[in-house]
Amino acid sequence: MERLQKIMAQAGVASRRKCEELILEGKVQVNGETVTELGTKADPAQDMITVSGKPIKHEKKVYVMLNKPKGVITSASDPEGRKIVSDYLKGIKERVYPIGRLDYDTEGLLLLTNDGEFANLLSHPKYHVPKTYLATVKGVPHGTELDKLRQGIMLEDGMTSPAEVEYKDVDPDNKQSVISITIHEGRNRQVRRMFEAISHPVLRLKRISYGDLLLQNLKRGLYRHLTADEINQLM
Ligand code: URA
Repeated sequence: MERLQKIMAQAGVASRRKCEELILEGKVQVNGETVTELGTKADPAQDMITVSGKPIKHEKKVYVMLNKPKGVITSASDPEGRKIVSDYLKGIKERVYPIGRLDYDTEGLLLLTNDGEFANLLSHPKYHVPKTYLATVKGVPHGTELDKLRQGIMLEDGMTSPAEVEYKDVDPDNKQSVISITIHEGRNRQVRRMFEAISHPVLRLKRISYGDLLLQNLKRGLYRHLTADEINQLM
């Protein structure tokens, strides 16, 4: 027996918190009875659980890594008809959701899953999953400017936590450089804003790792399933 909101989140209905709201709103029934108590337990294998009248699915859990191309939006639909990440997941029958987001113009490692619980866990700020990006930036930042990023820099939504920053390639002829940066937070457009704050705007941004997971040579626009070891390492 498990708590209803946990069963619902694991079935990919929504985050655990959102599932609690659905219960409180009286939208959830167990074997035909509406349940509004958050402590209610059920047996996912035996009990018929419905949300707004629809049975929840006990789908196989899938965990995938996509090498998102730039020019693709991290969302389930786009009213403007732009490309969305699910356009790249044609072989996956389950309905998966991205864990966190990458900007429209950012490419690289994006995780997707139908395991709401897992997604919630990893995106929770207290987990501080390190994420590494290769940023091609305008000009060649001075070491002291990179030190500011290492120490934490003031953005309009507050100080960033310390980041690991390294030169990867410096090309003074083309007035650009490639810098690797690892951040432990996930604020909106954070890496772009950090480089803007030192007056070296990002020209290209690619996420190459998420926790211990590495993008490696996964081709742009392709995905692969995570291995059991990779999933366990992240949990
Ligand atoms: N930081 C950014 O600025 N953009 C992303 O897509 C991810 C991190």
